[in-house]
Amino acid sequence: MTDLGGRREQVAAALASVEARIAEACRAAGRPREEITLIAVTKTYPASDVRILAELGVRDIGENRDQEAAPKAAECADLPLTWHFIGQLQTNKARSVVGYADVVHSVDRDRLVAALSREAVRAEREITCLVQVALDDTPGRGGARPADVPALADAVARAEGLRLGGVMAVAPLGEDPAKAFARLAEVARAVRADHPEATIVSAGMSGDLAEAIACGATHLRIGTALLGRRKPFVR
Ligand SMILES: *Cc1c(COP(=O)(O)O)cnc(C)c1O
Repeated sequence: MTDLGGRREQVAAALASVEARIAEACRAAGRPREEITLIAVTKTYPASDVRILAELGVRDIGENRDQEAAPKAAECADLPLTWHFIGQLQTNKARSVVGYADVVHSVDRDRLVAALSREAVRAEREITCLVQVALDDTPGRGGARPADVPALADAVARAEGLRLGGVMAVAPLGEDPAKAFARLAEVARAVRADHPEATIVSAGMSGDLAEAIACGATHLRIGTALLGRRKPFVR
């Protein structure tokens, strides 16, 4: 067992409190807990924290920067984990990400679909891809405009080596997350109409997991509430 100065107890307590929030939100929404996958976002935290989370039963890990994620995933290769890449992704990082990620949440343009497909085929892997939806008009934070999502979903579904899993979004800062996630639910419904297998809705972070569950999220990406506040300037 890993223990670094009570870190395991600290993370265990945080996990229990996140689980209690998830249970309460599921109850309020009339949804079973089994519909929800908790992804622990471990960016800026060491591989030893990933190991603690795994010991506590967490099976899904999220990272947003390849430079950090690649060595961490390698260090944790002995653990039974599913790795989720959740950050903006440059096409020149596709080869590295495909080496460890099972799910890429941030597919937002055709060139990235092409790059991931090429690398997945080359690595003989199947990568589940989520189309990231921009819920605000602020450029630069990643995500496809809602109007462009159906065509992008079609491109993923057609691409060799890729499986269309569904959609992902981050609630815009300063907006009621319930309103933003309601728009995401609409986009998710439209994608499912064309691709019934694309059932994943990745939404909900430490501050808005209840709103996300109320709006149909299937995957939560939780960092701060599990591991503590990160240093500033790192999303
Ligand atoms: C960092 C990050 C999260 C986790 O956010 P918290 O507020 O720390 O829970 C979720 N999604 C994405 C895309 C992130 O970059």
